[in-house]
Amino acid sequence: MTVMVAGAGPGGLMLAAELALAGVEVTVVDRLPRRSPYCRGFTLNARSLELLDRRGVVDRFLGEGPAVPYGMFADPSRPLDLTAMDTDHAYVLGIAQTRVEELLEQWLAELGVPVRWGHEVVGFDQDGDGVDVTVRVGGEHEARRVGYLAGCDGSRSIVRKLAGIGFPGTPATAFGLLADVNLADPADLPYGVTEGERGTVFVIPRPGYVRIVLDEPAPPADRDQPVEPAYFQQVLDETLGRPVGLADPRWLTRFSNAARQADRYVADRVVLAGDAAHIHPPAGAVGVNVALADAVNLGWKLAATTLGHAPDGLLDSYHQERHEAGARVLRTTRAQAILGRRDPELDPLRDLFGELTDLPPVGRYLAELATGVSTRYDPRIPGDNPMLGRLAPNLKLILGDEDTTVAELLRPANPVLIQFGDRALPADAAGRVDVFRARCPEQPDLEGLLIRPDGHTAWISTTTDPQPADTLATALTTWFGVRTPPSGAWRTRRSPKGAGSA
Ligand SMILES: Cc1cc2nc3c(=O)[nH]c(=O)nc-3n(C[C@H](O)[C@H](O)[C@H](O)COP(=O)(O)OP(=O)(O)OC[C@H]3O[C@@H](n4cnc5c(N)ncnc54)[C@H](O)[C@@H]3O)c2cc1C
Repeated sequence: MTVMVAGAGPGGLMLAAELALAGVEVTVVDRLPRRSPYCRGFTLNARSLELLDRRGVVDRFLGEGPAVPYGMFADPSRPLDLTAMDTDHAYVLGIAQTRVEELLEQWLAELGVPVRWGHEVVGFDQDGDGVDVTVRVGGEHEARRVGYLAGCDGSRSIVRKLAGIGFPGTPATAFGLLADVNLADPADLPYGVTEGERGTVFVIPRPGYVRIVLDEPAPPADRDQPVEPAYFQQVLDETLGRPVGLADPRWLTRFSNAARQADRYVADRVVLAGDAAHIHPPAGAVGVNVALADAVNLGWKLAATTLGHAPDGLLDSYHQERHEAGARVLRTTRAQAILGRRDPELDPLRDLFGELTDLPPVGRYLAELATGVSTRYDPRIPGDNPMLGRLAPNLKLILGDEDTTVAELLRPANPVLIQFGDRALPADAAGRVDVFRARCPEQPDLEGLLIRPDGHTAWISTTTDPQPADTLATALTTWFGVRTPPSGAWRTRRSPKGAGSA
């Protein structure tokens, strides 16, 4: 049974790679004739880098841009210290979204999945066994029968609309304009923030050009109307209160503060991820990152469902976990947008919030919230270990006589069960879980760790907080459908370096 992924943006590419790793036959289609050269985002955050690390591809991205150890929550004059975050990648990576997409597409091709450009999903019908998808290729319509259809087709998702999935939220009330241009005289406008007579102008240096971002003074009559260079020039001059010459316009567009979220991420055999599932103000610069996080949560669940070994409700847990995470993104980015509004009424709130942000624990909380590092999913078993439900830390491990890490064990995108120490924990992973016996000198209290393919901790036992084996059995059943009774046998199915013993 195959999956069709509609949309080769970051969400669709990552989802397709996760499915391919799991052995699912996957097709990726995109309506554009080729990748758009226009670059929307410039950042990968800590959580995305952690996820890419757990697939062994993060180095491809790290070499592409600067690692910036601070970020911004709302006030550019009060940077957030990202180094305080609990992560291997305590910074934001400056990398063009277009480059992220190229690297993901390259990786996907290595996994045997080419992107079919110039293929537009224009309709579908689903029944109990599959989805009949109509794809427009050139002037022709092609019919394809697939098991599942993944709508990773962006904010105006046709898949979402045709599936009848609601998209409630708050409409656009404020608009921003963006222009990738050159300054006729670079001395006219510095990089960074400039307070003008009627508003703030951001100038971001890019290789060979600058990106200028400012508020649109009034909502446009037609928001889909292209932003003309002359109009942008006029708004820029009025905002600054003086003329600044622009040259070589490459790309001009507008964005808004609309915030909406699909009311269902799963509608039988149709699923949504990325912007198709949620849109929010660009304040936090997180859209690419949230799309990747959706894809990694969805990938293993959709794969298990497609391959026929998913436990009941596994696919629905994608909606539960990522809808909740998405709602948090909407709330956070809306708060960021409000705090960033040029309104003197908000000054006291902004000042107070700024003072709070300067307190180290608050700064860390906000940094981990805005970058998704603190994302926690309901583990569905009792236990109060802080690691439970969160991304398992990338612990250094000794497997047999070889060094490895949690990230390395997760590369094949399988569930991982690690036993530390001597106590035998009864569990039979029925061949669906990679089981290892390892040592972890940096966490000598660890007894056992069960990690989902998306890197989140499904079960943990320590000598100071021993968990009964039946909670392990529950976790194995809940997430991986391992139903065989505990046998007491620990088996190593394979190890990444041929080491490891059970
Ligand atoms: C101005 C701006 C700046 C931004 N800056 C940042 C930033 O700094 N950091 C960040 O993380 N995010 C940023 N974002 C957000 C980010 O660009 C998006 O959130 C991200 O691209 C979402 O990825 P996606 O894969 O869900 O969708 P998209 O990237 O939108 O990809 C959707 C794909 O689906 C294709 N498609 C559409 N319809 C169909 C169809 N019917 N059939 C087949 N294919 C179809 C499209 O051609 C497209 O390739 C910014 C956004 C904007 C507008």
